[in-house]
Amino acid sequence: MSSLQPLKGTHDLMFDDIRRHRLVEETAFEVASRYGFSEIATPVFEFTDVFKRTLGDTSDIVTKEMYTFETKGGDSITLRPEGTAGVARAFISGGLAQQTPLKFFYRGPMFRYERPQKGRQRQFHQIGAEILGVPTPQADVEVIALAAHVLKELKLTGNVTLELNSLGDIESRAAYRDELVKYFSARKDQLSQDSRDRLERNPLRILDSKDPGDKAAVADAPSFTDHLNELSRDFFKAVQDCLAAQDIAFKVTPALVRGLDYYGHTAFEFTTDALGAQGTVLAGGRYDGLIKQMGGPQTPGIGWAAGIERLSMLLSDLPPAKRPIAVIPIGEEEAKIALDITAKLRHAGFTVDMGYSGNMGKRMTRANKIKAVVALIIGSDEVRDGVATVRNLDTGDQVKVPFADLARHLSGHR
Ligand code: ATP
Ligand code: MG
Repeated sequence: MSSLQPLKGTHDLMFDDIRRHRLVEETAFEVASRYGFSEIATPVFEFTDVFKRTLGDTSDIVTKEMYTFETKGGDSITLRPEGTAGVARAFISGGLAQQTPLKFFYRGPMFRYERPQKGRQRQFHQIGAEILGVPTPQADVEVIALAAHVLKELKLTGNVTLELNSLGDIESRAAYRDELVKYFSARKDQLSQDSRDRLERNPLRILDSKDPGDKAAVADAPSFTDHLNELSRDFFKAVQDCLAAQDIAFKVTPALVRGLDYYGHTAFEFTTDALGAQGTVLAGGRYDGLIKQMGGPQTPGIGWAAGIERLSMLLSDLPPAKRPIAVIPIGEEEAKIALDITAKLRHAGFTVDMGYSGNMGKRMTRANKIKAVVALIIGSDEVRDGVATVRNLDTGDQVKVPFADLARHLSGHR
C-alpha cells in the first residue's frame, strides 16, 4: 500500500463532509449548553491502563480494538477508543470530587482497530455527555432527554428509536449472571467460539453478539427484567415514568447490555432503521462503579456517546454555506485598489474572496463556482469615478456604489 494513501479506515474531511461534521458537533454542543453541560477536552492518548482498567480485560475494545504503543520512554500508551475513561481519569487527577455534580460534554476523534465498513471506521469521531456525582434517576433522564433533543434538533432522516433496559444493581446482576451461565451452558454447542469464551468471563456480552447462532440462543434467554431486585425495579420504573412524563418515547429491550461490571441500572441506545447493520447512532448507560474501580472516590456517573459519521449520514439537509462577496478587478492598477477594498470589507465583518489572477471571464467563473452572492467589479471607469459596480449574481442586476458606501450598501450580506 502506498504511503500516500490514507490508512485503511481513515478519511480526509473536507468541503460538505466537514460541514456536516461540524453541524453535528455544534448543534450538539449548543443543545448541551442549554442543559448546563460544559465542554471538556481530554488528550487523545492516555496511559494504556486508563482504558484497560475502565473497559475491562474482556471487552472487545481492549482485547481486539486498541491502538497501543510503547513510547521512546518505555511507557505503554493507547489512542483513546472512547471518551468516558479519559473524563473519569480527568475527574480523579484533577481532584474534582468536591465539585460534583459535574456535567461534561465532549467531542473528538476516537480510534479502534476494527474492520472498516459503512459507518465503521478506525478513526471516527464522537460527541458525548457525562454527568458525574448524581446517583438518582433524574440524571439518567436528563442525559437521555439531552440525547433525544440533540437528535431531534439534527432533523435526521429515518426513524430513530430509543431502546432502554436496566442492568440492575450489583446484587441483581450477580443473580442474573448465574441464570445466564446456567442457560447458555445447556446450549453450549449452539454458541460461537467467541461466546463460549464469554461464558466464563463475561456472559452478559453474549446477549450482544451479532453471530446468527448466538442470536438464536439469545432469543429465548432469561430476561434481565425478571431478575431485578426491588431497588433496581423502582429505579427502572422511576426512569420510565419520568421519560413518559417528558413525552420521550422508548422501547424496553431486554437484550440491551453493557457487559462490564461497573455498568448498572440504566442502559440505552438510539437506533435507526436507515443505516443497515450499523444502526446504533448513540449509546449510553450508568456507570456507578467506574471511578472507584479506577482508584478514585466512589462517584456515580451516567453518560452517552454518539458517532458523528453515522449522524452525518442521516442529516437530511445541510444549510447552504455562507456566500462570499467576490471582488473582481480588471487590470493591475485596479487590483491594488481592489485589494484595499477587500481588506476593508473583511475587517468590517464581510466574507470576501478576491481571485489571484485572470481576466474578467475567468474571475466571473470563479465567483459563480464559489457561489458568491455579489461581484464587485472594479475597472478603469470605476477607479476614475471612485465607485464599484455591484452585480447581484442571482439576478444579474447591477448598480454603481461609491467605495466609501460599500459597507453600508452590502450590509445585508454580512
Ligand atoms: P458497535 O456495536 O456498532 O460496534 P459499540 O458498542 O462499539 O458500537 P460504543 O462504544 O457504544 O459503540 O460507541 C458509541 C457510538 O459510537 C456508536 O453507537 C456509534 O455511533 C459510534 N461508533 C462506535 N464505533 C465506531 C466506529 N468504528 N466507526 C464509526 N462510529 C463508531
Ligand atoms: Mg464496537
